Amino acid sequence: MKFLSLVCCMLMVMLSMGSAAAEESSLYVKKIENLPEDFIFGMDASCVIALEESGVKYYNFDGEEEDVFKILADNGVNYIRVRIWNDPYDKDGNGYGGGNCDIDKAVLIGQRATKYGMKLLVNFHYSDFWADPGKQMVPKAWQGMEIEEKTEAVYQYTKECLQKLKDAGVDVGMVQVGNETNQYLCGEKIWFNIQYLMQAGARATREVFPEALVALHFANPEKVGSYDTYAKKMDYYQVDYDVFASSYYPYWHGTLENLTESLSRIATTYGKKVMVMETSYAYTGEDTDFNGNTIGDGGAITKSYPFSVQGQANNLWDITNALVNDTVNGIGVVYWEGTWISVGQNSWEENHEKWEKYGSGWASSYAAGYDPNDAGKYYGGNAVDNQALFGPDGKALESLKVFRLMREGNEIEAVADALEDATIICDLNAPLNLPETVNAVMTDNTKKAIPVQWDFTPEQDEKMHKGGVAQYVIEGQAGGMTAKCYVSMVEYNYLQDYSFEESSALWQITDLKNADELYIEDKKTDSLTGDKHMHFWSAAQNSVEFTLEQKAQNLPGGKYKFTVSIMGGDAGQTDIYAYVKVNGEIVTRAPMGITSYGNWDTAVTEAFTCSGEDEVVVGVYVKCQGAGNGAWGKIDDALLNSVQ
Ligand code: CA
Repeated sequence: MKFLSLVCCMLMVMLSMGSAAAEESSLYVKKIENLPEDFIFGMDASCVIALEESGVKYYNFDGEEEDVFKILADNGVNYIRVRIWNDPYDKDGNGYGGGNCDIDKAVLIGQRATKYGMKLLVNFHYSDFWADPGKQMVPKAWQGMEIEEKTEAVYQYTKECLQKLKDAGVDVGMVQVGNETNQYLCGEKIWFNIQYLMQAGARATREVFPEALVALHFANPEKVGSYDTYAKKMDYYQVDYDVFASSYYPYWHGTLENLTESLSRIATTYGKKVMVMETSYAYTGEDTDFNGNTIGDGGAITKSYPFSVQGQANNLWDITNALVNDTVNGIGVVYWEGTWISVGQNSWEENHEKWEKYGSGWASSYAAGYDPNDAGKYYGGNAVDNQALFGPDGKALESLKVFRLMREGNEIEAVADALEDATIICDLNAPLNLPETVNAVMTDNTKKAIPVQWDFTPEQDEKMHKGGVAQYVIEGQAGGMTAKCYVSMVEYNYLQDYSFEESSALWQITDLKNADELYIEDKKTDSLTGDKHMHFWSAAQNSVEFTLEQKAQNLPGGKYKFTVSIMGGDAGQTDIYAYVKVNGEIVTRAPMGITSYGNWDTAVTEAFTCSGEDEVVVGVYVKCQGAGNGAWGKIDDALLNSVQ
């Protein structure tokens, strides 16, 4: 919906401008300066064959069905990445899913990439299924092998696969030895062994494709110092590679600044090329294939951009610009599985059948034998369909144009792309003033306050003020989109540090006559709420007498009441009361008493009025005399609320 309204909006802007750019793109894209001709714009398209077998078709911007690889090439993609699993099938030949990506599929994909002038980036997982930082399972055929034998197996296997690609005429530009190999590879868990496998893969690559780059791929740049550790290990073991590559998903992987600094340090220290090997971003929070998504609305993630086609473009722009202009030896960015879309719009049952039969979901039930704890439990469809650069109907999304537009620029007028939610806290006894503007995230990723029209009636207003402490969501219209304001109706407390949790200096002992102990105590069991309270005590022969006060800060003129609670015991004769002083004169007081442990007594003063200029002080006076065992007490939760 957001996208549709954006498009309408854009069309209107363009028509009014009478611009020739109308046929160009509704994406706002600034030209990236210093972008090299040969900068790698990659697309991981590993699932394409399985998707096509499932009936998926792809359409270009004219709405014509076309080879997806041609569509990609026409839009500035110059590298296709493909993962290779050794044997992603069970003993009966049923595929594990995730595209059933073996060497045969890689050959098919490679040939089509080559046909349209793109290079192939070969991604060896050295596993029969998904490999990532937490999972690097050894292929079935290599189970039980000692490291020497496994090293030879990696070498032979890599060589065979690459030779097949070469024989098929595939233009291989880069070979990745392992996928997200943070600490494991192919079942090995120590660097001493892992480096042998990496060396073997690199050696095979040099022999078959001497011109191709050898890449190592890691993830989690946000873990401080981890990349330095990996690069140092590789250097120590003299592993032969050209490119140090990183995954970078903005939801999880820290700041771009941290990424570029980490990569630059490795580029400078070890003379390597660096790149982002995987990234993606959501164009919608909605799921499109009846299988829930990793990223969606309501998830506990940090959004860097709106979930929109422009958000996808802005993520790619920021990463590309960072690699080109802020990183030493940055050579490229690969979008992960931008072609992995839903296999059908009808039902889960229909899609499930295709996922099982063609391997077009992330995992089929057949993977259970190999990967019982993950695929075996959670097998299913596509969890990233909302991050593709094609819609569920197979039609290219506007965001696909960003690769080309980053070279050319498309600096059209920025328009509102998404709205930030507004939040307000409203005193039950004060008028509710909804904001007149909301923040729009513009297509150029700046923010701008735009006018909003709330759908809000006086009846609703009255209901909310009479409804006690509660939360509401009010909707409105701004920039052609639905705005939301989250309203909390509260009994607003005009005191600071009302429960002594911050041990604030605003609380003052203004008149201490007697007390052996008097301090803010950190003891949850003795507090009314929170962890802390004001504690007092005197030994049996001594009496207690003090005043505790807080001066109200920035209190608007109005009518208020003061509430405070106390508990204690062993006090003998007492004179304890809560009070309010206006300009130094006590205007109201409310008596309190202490009886025994756990019996909190809450005092509420009469209402009093003050002007905005008056000095208002609230306080508690405590006097305990002739105590039997030594008077003690706890004061907590002071409230200054407005009244009508
Ligand atoms: Ca999904």
